[in-house]
Amino acid sequence: MTTAPDLRLQGVTVRYGSTIAVDGVDLQIRAGEIVALLGPSGSGKSSLLRAVAGLEPVAAGGLLWRGQSIVDIPTHRRGFGLMFQDGQLFPHRDVAGNVAYGIRALPRAERAQRVREVLDVVGMGEYASRSVSSLSGGQAQRVALARSLAPRPELLLLDEPLSALDRSLRERLSSEIRQILRECGASCIYVTHDQDEAFAVADRIGVMIDGRLAALAAPQELWAAPGRRDVADFLGFGPFIPVGEGRWRALAPASVRVRRVIDEGGAGALTSEVELEEMTAAAGQAGAILHPVGVIVDARGGRGHSLVEVRMGDKTLKARALPNLGAASDLVGALVELEVDLSSCPVVV
Ligand code: ADP
Ligand code: MG
Repeated sequence: MTTAPDLRLQGVTVRYGSTIAVDGVDLQIRAGEIVALLGPSGSGKSSLLRAVAGLEPVAAGGLLWRGQSIVDIPTHRRGFGLMFQDGQLFPHRDVAGNVAYGIRALPRAERAQRVREVLDVVGMGEYASRSVSSLSGGQAQRVALARSLAPRPELLLLDEPLSALDRSLRERLSSEIRQILRECGASCIYVTHDQDEAFAVADRIGVMIDGRLAALAAPQELWAAPGRRDVADFLGFGPFIPVGEGRWRALAPASVRVRRVIDEGGAGALTSEVELEEMTAAAGQAGAILHPVGVIVDARGGRGHSLVEVRMGDKTLKARALPNLGAASDLVGALVELEVDLSSCPVVV
C-alpha cells in the first residue's frame, strides 16, 4: 500500500433543499485503503458516498481523484465501482450476464474470461448460468460484488452491501469482502450502520454524526479513544461519568460485570447514591477497579453470558453476568456487586 492519497474530499457538502445532509467533510483515502463510514441512520453516509460517485451534486467543497477534480465528471466516466444494499441485479439476465454488464466493451473471449475470474473471486464460479432469481440473498450480494469488480475499478463505493443479510452471513461475508478487496488492491469506501461490520472490514473507520465526520481512526484506536461523547455513545459506550472540565469517563461495554449476587430479592436496602458518588470520584483515576452495588432491573441471555441492566440511583449500567450466577430470568430483582474496570474506559469530551 502506498501512502499517496487516491481520493481527497475537501469540505464536501451535500444539500437537499434546506436539509444539509453532509456538512463540510474532509477525508483522504490512500491507495488500496478501505475506509468504513459508520454512523446512525440519517447521518449522511449515503449522501456522501453518492456525492463521490457523482450521483448527487456537491453543494460546496472539492473532490479530487489522484489530484484531479472530479466534481464535473459524470458518474459513468468516474470509473468507480458501485454496489448497494439490495444489489440491484438485472432479473432478466443470468449471473454471468449480470457480471458482464460493466465490461460489455471487451472482446467476447476476454469478457468471458474476466466473468469467470471475478465469479471465482467471490466463490460463485459454479453459478455462471444460474438465473438470478434462484439465488439466496448472500449469493446475490456476491454476484453484485463480482459485477462491481469486473471492470477493475480503482475505487469501490459500497453502500450497506450486507445490510439485507442475516447476522452470521454478514459476519462471514464482511471478512471475505476485506480479503477480496485486499487481493484486488482497490481503494474502498464502505458505508454501514453496523459496527461489527465496520470493525471487520476497515483499515480506518470514519464515524458520521449529523452530516459531519466526527471521528476518523483505525478500528482499535477508535475503540481505545473515541474522542467525543457522541461518537462513544454511538459505539455503545456509556453511561458517562463526569470527571470535571467538561469531560467524561465512558464506560466500555465489556468493562462492567456482575461480581456476585448479594441478595436475590433484596432490592429494598440499597444505598446506591453513595455508591454512585464513590464511583464518580474514582472515575477520574485511570486504571481503578470499582465495586459498586446495584439492583438488576432487566436481564436477557447473551452469547456466553447474560446481559443485565443494573440500576444505581438514577443511572443504569449495562453489565455482563456469567452463567454460574444464575439464568437471566432469575437475576431480575437481585442486589448485586459489580466490578467496573476503568482501565478499558476512555475519557471523552
Ligand atoms: P444515511 O445514509 O447515513 O442513513 P442519508 O445520506 O441517506 O443518511 O441521509 C442524510 C440526510 O439527508 C437525512 O436527513 C435524509 O433524510 C436526507 N436525505 C437523504 N436523501 C434525500 C433526498 N433524496 N431528498 C431529501 N432529503 C434526503
Ligand atoms: Mg444510507
